[in-house]
Amino acid sequence: MGERTTDPGHGDGSGPPHGWDRSGRRTVFLLDVDNTLLDNDAAKAELGRRIRDHLGAVAAERFWGVYEEVRTEATVVSYPLTLARYWEEADPTATVAIRAALADLVVEFPYADFLYPGALETVAHLCRLGRAVVLSDGDPAYQPSKIARAGIDEAVDGFVLVYGHKEEHLREITAAFPADRYVLVEDKPDNLTKVRAALAAVSPGTPFTGVLVRQGKYAAAPGAADVHGVDLVLDAFGDLRGLDLAGITGAR
Ligand SMILES: [Mg+2]
Repeated sequence: MGERTTDPGHGDGSGPPHGWDRSGRRTVFLLDVDNTLLDNDAAKAELGRRIRDHLGAVAAERFWGVYEEVRTEATVVSYPLTLARYWEEADPTATVAIRAALADLVVEFPYADFLYPGALETVAHLCRLGRAVVLSDGDPAYQPSKIARAGIDEAVDGFVLVYGHKEEHLREITAAFPADRYVLVEDKPDNLTKVRAALAAVSPGTPFTGVLVRQGKYAAAPGAADVHGVDLVLDAFGDLRGLDLAGITGAR
């Protein structure tokens, strides 16, 4: 998705090419989106308020019931599937105007308003230390559009990967973005554990740094910072701005 194969380099012929440090090693930062770059808990709460205003409390509750049903079955959040099933099963007599307005609420939701403070500047900082790539789990239609509308797509030069479960795609990820070192930034401790193990399976010995940002409900759970795969814990994604490559990876 939006993947490019050209490397712009520094353009002036000085310094190492884009994404490489001075010792000639390439670091790729894999950045989660929900509750890492943007406050998805707050976004979902606001979307919930708007849906309730539009549909009324009872129908809105049905909508979120369908949302959870779809999430359980598809094992990933999917607003397109939720909308389709909601109309089909929960509210088949709704007018076209009501349907269209609900779809607009969901599809045009302003995720850019929910970016964490300094998120895009922090991405720009990481782009100077290595290559930043978005690695997000979500619906294959909705999630890339959400990422683009939040302005994240542009911040990572279009390098955006969206999967159902990122830890199942390390072979593709490492093929698309070869590196001497990967840094995964996440709010979900489990994902750090799983991606670390999956990387070790497809690319044994490749250094990996797991960065847990204490944002959102998963990172707030007791023991979140103690799971295998967490190397660095930060209170906020923006804290990465104050660190250089050695500060992040511990590498000299
Ligand atoms: Mg997340």
